[in-house]
Amino acid sequence: MKEIYIFGHKNPDTDSILSSLVLEAIEKTMGVKNAKAYRLGEINKETKYVLDYFGIKAPEFLEEVDEGREVMLVDHNEFAQSADGIENAKILRVVDHHKIANFETNEPIFFLSMPVGSTATILREMCKVSGIRMDKITAGLMLSAIISDTLLLKSPTTTDKDREAAEELSKLAEIDINEYGLNMLKAGADLSEYSPMQLINLDSKPYSTNGVKYQVAQVNTVSIEDVLKDKEAIENAINEYINEKNLDLFVFMITDIIENNSQIIVLGKQEIAERAFDIKLENNMAFVNGLVSRKKQVVPAIDKAIG
Ligand code: MG
Ligand code: MG
Ligand code: MG
Repeated sequence: MKEIYIFGHKNPDTDSILSSLVLEAIEKTMGVKNAKAYRLGEINKETKYVLDYFGIKAPEFLEEVDEGREVMLVDHNEFAQSADGIENAKILRVVDHHKIANFETNEPIFFLSMPVGSTATILREMCKVSGIRMDKITAGLMLSAIISDTLLLKSPTTTDKDREAAEELSKLAEIDINEYGLNMLKAGADLSEYSPMQLINLDSKPYSTNGVKYQVAQVNTVSIEDVLKDKEAIENAINEYINEKNLDLFVFMITDIIENNSQIIVLGKQEIAERAFDIKLENNMAFVNGLVSRKKQVVPAIDKAIG
């Protein structure tokens, strides 16, 4: 029996990796024994912290999807963020919490999308509806994904469903949300070993709206100043990336996970970002109060500014 691949987006974050693993567990419980989680990129330090904490191995790396392969997508739906070869795969399921864009299939599929803080929140709903019992580790993985995507339930993407899920999962996993969550986020905020090019690729996504191609990357930190020490090198990396991918715009968010604000560095068609956030950039840069969510704040504002 051929494997059914389960994977999240490229430049995978904690929700993408953990939701793949959780969906694999759910599928197996439901009798789909050949479902298997994969990853489309390197594991970041935050995700590594979680995997080590629960003693779990990272999913294997998937280079591309072969023609006709059955796949399930979590935490994304846009083909540009998905595996190479996705156009010719057979998509069985999508479980996601992002805007739906540039997505098309030839056949009816199971598409579960909810405007909640993390894909794991939707998977927990699936478990409840299907009467699937969540073991301690699965609960811990779902909780970690929720904490990651909602910045410890503080991002404006956080909904009551996420809060309710986190509450229940923390009991099941026997984990103190705040203590564990802060350690986990801090592990991800250690950017010391990354080169500028790695930094802008850590958590980075491409978008295309009305012919405008742009990229939004984000790093989490406890000290924006620390990251800005490399500003010039980061800008060089961004410019190189813009040229290589022929982009119109690149927005790099440096997010303070304690204060929940972001410094943004913008290159390319800066006027789009200035209109989007009602700001004036200085030295390609601006501080935006309360800005933490690419999905709910940055991308909709840029799309609107593009018009
Ligand atoms: Mg994600
Ligand atoms: Mg997510
Ligand atoms: Mg994220």
